[in-house]
Amino acid sequence: MINLFGVINESIQYVKGIGPKKAEKLNKLGIYTIKDLLYYFPRQFEDRSVIKKIAQLEDEEKVTVKALITNIESYTPKKGMTITRIDVKDDTGFAKLTFFNREYIKNTFRVGDSILAFGKVKKNGRFVELNSCELEYLSTSPKNIGKLVPVYPLSYGITNKDIMNTVRMVFENKDIKIPEYMPEYLLKKYRLCGIDYAIKNIHFPKDKESLKVALYRLIFEELLVLQLGLFMYKGGNSNEKGILFKRDQRLDEVLESLPFSLTRAQNRALNEIIDDMCSEKVMNRLVQGDVGSGKTVVALLALAECVFNGYQGALMAPTEILAQQHYESFTETFEDIGINVELLTGSVTKKQKEGILHRARDGEIDILIGTHALIEDNVEFKNIGLVITDEQHRFGVRQRGKLSSKGTSPDILVMTATPIPRTLALILYGDLDISIIDELPPGRQPIETIAVEKKKRDKVYNSLVRREVDKGRQVYIVCPLVEESESLDITSATETAEEIKRDFFPDLRVGLLHGKMKPSEKDAIMTAFKNHELDILVSTTVIEVGVNVPNSTLMIIENAERFGLAQLHQLRGRVGRGKHQSYCVLIYGSNSEVCRKRMGIMEETNDGFKISEKDLEIRGPGEFFGTMQHGVPELKVANLFKHMKILKTVQQEARIIIGEDSTLDFKEYRGLKREIESKFKDKIEKDITMN
Ligand code: ADP
Ligand code: MG
Repeated sequence: MINLFGVINESIQYVKGIGPKKAEKLNKLGIYTIKDLLYYFPRQFEDRSVIKKIAQLEDEEKVTVKALITNIESYTPKKGMTITRIDVKDDTGFAKLTFFNREYIKNTFRVGDSILAFGKVKKNGRFVELNSCELEYLSTSPKNIGKLVPVYPLSYGITNKDIMNTVRMVFENKDIKIPEYMPEYLLKKYRLCGIDYAIKNIHFPKDKESLKVALYRLIFEELLVLQLGLFMYKGGNSNEKGILFKRDQRLDEVLESLPFSLTRAQNRALNEIIDDMCSEKVMNRLVQGDVGSGKTVVALLALAECVFNGYQGALMAPTEILAQQHYESFTETFEDIGINVELLTGSVTKKQKEGILHRARDGEIDILIGTHALIEDNVEFKNIGLVITDEQHRFGVRQRGKLSSKGTSPDILVMTATPIPRTLALILYGDLDISIIDELPPGRQPIETIAVEKKKRDKVYNSLVRREVDKGRQVYIVCPLVEESESLDITSATETAEEIKRDFFPDLRVGLLHGKMKPSEKDAIMTAFKNHELDILVSTTVIEVGVNVPNSTLMIIENAERFGLAQLHQLRGRVGRGKHQSYCVLIYGSNSEVCRKRMGIMEETNDGFKISEKDLEIRGPGEFFGTMQHGVPELKVANLFKHMKILKTVQQEARIIIGEDSTLDFKEYRGLKREIESKFKDKIEKDITMN
């Protein structure tokens, strides 16, 4: 250990007491170097700092006692078991400490010793006992008792003490210096402690305040590295030159021909989009709006603007049902204007497809709507100017990118109803500008939601379903699986449809829709439902996204406990799309606390943002990010939800930094840049090549 800066990058084996065997185990925890060890943070702390008098002890509490040993004895009640009992006293009373199979204690401690003991209190009248204690001599610098003690995530036979001792060894080595990579001015501006202090106190905090100070610095740093990394790697194309559109008068005519006027939020989003299109920068924009907020019409208007400027446009949707629906509403609006819209999905015939491909290449098609079929290699355009992805969370980053590669720098718009708190969206989509449609069209009444236990299911069907159908409304019933599975008590769509026709409503028109049906069959059913030739549609989650039948007012979800909150919210969004009061009934078959909590949230609010925050709270951001398939480095101390306030501060600062030095090559940022590079190392390749 000669080179001061090199030291922390040395192998963990250089630490005293770490042989090849232990090193190997540490490796399994991802600890290879001394630096890895120092950044292996405790999961939580056990608060052993509260020292109590014996007379004040309460049953069941875990606490530290300072006392004097008055007696020690050891006995063997049966073979292989030794019990050691130590009597202690302080100036308020007496207590017994009990140890199982820890004979060495008898040889380590003596009557008359002053000790610190940490353990769980068992109190019975005046009889006080401390079980499975940790014991230490009272000294001026107690090691593990009388303070906040780190609890590390463990496995592979590594104990908490192993890690504590190893970290302690490292700290005792005066050569160890952790280089400070945070620029001096940031430390000052945000009153952050130095890295040395932070690392020492995250492992062995002097007290609660020091821990707080250390944590703040580390959270700030982690978020800054994450945000700067995302800006640096994903924001690269922000200066790319694109098509210069001109706002066209005819757009106003389309606006006037709509059966409604746009909400303020829709107008704002549209203006932001048109402004982007009319600038020479390539548009890269996310439209985020809760279910039913009216994103489709915004997409329609943007595409109209594109076509008026002489370019083609494309709209990709995740399901055939949705693509079909968009196609129908677009043709209705564009028929008289002479904009030619066509539909390309997996279910068009070979011959039809050839025609479509031909017309797209020739520029005869103005707007091509479709599913994944749009990104197949043989789909080419004459001059594509705008590509839109609906419900973009259903597509990977790669697919999104593939659609835009069908032209030279077309503008890009992606739409999502997955409500992500704004700051999170910024983190996730660091490369996108965001428009938020945070207002529902007027006249919508909030959907009334109730959650009921399974045993009340019959009642729901007999009263609610009947009532809505009698009023001339339509009903969705969603089930988790297609076919009955024997092992799980899950109501399947097929069975439910049968049952409903047979046992509940022989007089009503009941349809069935699921993902295993042929596209043409799905189509026929959806069309029938739309035309009110069906009263009840029993379905799997294929209707989750986008489907729009304003006359349906009741959504029943079977086995609601099987769905995520965001998904329940999406499903619920299939009703409440017209002027009629709508209802959602969640039928659940679990009595767990988590289930009741989740159902409660759904009953309480219709606000997708709130729901997604709660979801995040319950599931934790790790899983949240997991499902978002995004290559962001794992966070150790920061929690994007809990530390939203710090995140906001960090984002502001990161914008300033990137604005001044987009590649972080200034001398003061070099340390930070190295951190970013190492954290993003393997993530970059995966994610960036997709873009
Ligand atoms: P989403 O944002 O979930 O995709 P849609 O675009 O499907 O929502 O719109 C939901 C419903 O609201 C549709 O029936 C649409 O015609 C209607 N709608 C959209 N904008 C308005 C508006 N400004 N006023 C009234 N109804 C609207
Ligand atoms: Mg939609």
